[in-house]
Amino acid sequence: MAKKNSNKKEKHDLLYIMNPNCGWCKKSDPVVEELKKDGYDITTLDITNPEDAKVANEVKAKYNAQCGTPLFLDAETGNMACGFRERGALEPWAKGEQMEERPAPTPPQKPTPKKYKLEYIWTDSDGNIRSKVRYSTIVQMPNEMLSMRNVPQWSFDGSSTNQAETTDSDLIISPVRLFPNPMESRNQSQMASWYVLCEVLNPDGTHHESNLRKELWDILQENKDQDIWVGVEQEYVMVDEVSGQPYGWTDYKDSTPPPQGEYYCGVGGNKQKGRVIAEQHANLCIQSGIAFEGFHPEVMLSQWEYQIGPGNPLDIADQLIFSRFLLQRITERVSFPVAVSYDSKVMPDGNWNGSGAHINFSSKQMREEDGPEYLNIICSSLAESHDEAIKSYGKDNDKRLTGRHETSSIDKFTWGENDRTASIRIPFSAVGEDKMGYLEDRRPSASMNPYEAFSYLVSTVSSVSKELLVNI
Ligand code: ADP
Ligand code: MN
Ligand code: MN
Ligand code: MN
Repeated sequence: MAKKNSNKKEKHDLLYIMNPNCGWCKKSDPVVEELKKDGYDITTLDITNPEDAKVANEVKAKYNAQCGTPLFLDAETGNMACGFRERGALEPWAKGEQMEERPAPTPPQKPTPKKYKLEYIWTDSDGNIRSKVRYSTIVQMPNEMLSMRNVPQWSFDGSSTNQAETTDSDLIISPVRLFPNPMESRNQSQMASWYVLCEVLNPDGTHHESNLRKELWDILQENKDQDIWVGVEQEYVMVDEVSGQPYGWTDYKDSTPPPQGEYYCGVGGNKQKGRVIAEQHANLCIQSGIAFEGFHPEVMLSQWEYQIGPGNPLDIADQLIFSRFLLQRITERVSFPVAVSYDSKVMPDGNWNGSGAHINFSSKQMREEDGPEYLNIICSSLAESHDEAIKSYGKDNDKRLTGRHETSSIDKFTWGENDRTASIRIPFSAVGEDKMGYLEDRRPSASMNPYEAFSYLVSTVSSVSKELLVNI
């Protein structure tokens, strides 16, 4: 009786379908040589040669061969080995042994409906963030990620947000950026969950007056050559959600904690309030993919700062709004009654710091210059537009920019190297060899609208640096 898997089967002749320009085929060439020496008759079909390609296509069609090159094919049995193979692996089937059944080719994938939880986010006329959820069925390819292309516009009642008259109230929220929802990577219904940052449009598709994003977009388009980057230090105060007083202060006699001095970057239950929120915020920002850089407790008890950037002003503005949204959402979830305040001066009386949103900025040329000279020239040129800057830099700055508590005076434009009482500071870390020169505008208040503030800054810095180039 003949043994199973006998090695004594006859050698078959093989076709070697190859492309001389393909790296995998080069690896197979020595195998071919060895097999030839071993007595196999191998016909090489070079698919860059039309005659050979014709034969190769015919035989591939006959045996339904799906692979490209290199391909070893037994013309007698239809056995085949796709790709580079060790000589040992080729031999059994070249001796007539049947290869394993090949899996049937997968049918082409069809678009299928998938359900999503989408939370649309926008800003109202007073700078408050609003959001509402909808569950949408979106038709897409099975492995396709959700993209802007798939997410439709929506509408909201503008009369309830002080953005429209009741008689003509519907406004459009038009998606501009998607963020994965890091609080619910999959919610209880196993549905993918995304945040959809939107801009507000009028029913006719024009930009609503509260929507300043378009202006920033236009200004950036006009000044692409400046390649301006920004980074924001967002300060805020955790406050009691009912009284608006800084969170935790009522536990102290007369609701007043010991004077500031030990709270900045403080550690311990009596040196900071609300770290669980700041920490969770940092984690969620990072998980949702924004350029979150760091955070710390600030000078006043219950005051905090986080930084975002550096990057393109439109990206950073979108990310800043989204980071504020996440922060506010976290305060809904914690077990104590806390909210976020971006007021420029939560405690107007007494010796307490206000909250700002320093904007650090650089143009391509600022980043490339070595010394502080160019940065000083830029600062001196920004003096003229001080009033315009203050108008674009948020509410109630008169209460904060007093010349005290690490601020400049609102009435005067000043700048200086490493001077934290100046309107604009030239950070030490920004000058000298191999440093990425940048400036820190300390004037913006914590509630600033980033689209408005960056529009002023990008257009002013761009025109100043263009003028300087002409005059040099
Ligand atoms: P501060 O000393 O004022 O507290 P921070 O460390 O809090 O400074 O923040 C520094 C900020 O500077 C960050 O927001 C960062 O993104 C930004 N930044 C750093 N380098 C550049 C640059 N080349 N251009 C623009 N912004 C920058
Ligand atoms: Mn800072
Ligand atoms: Mn700060
Ligand atoms: Mn700063």
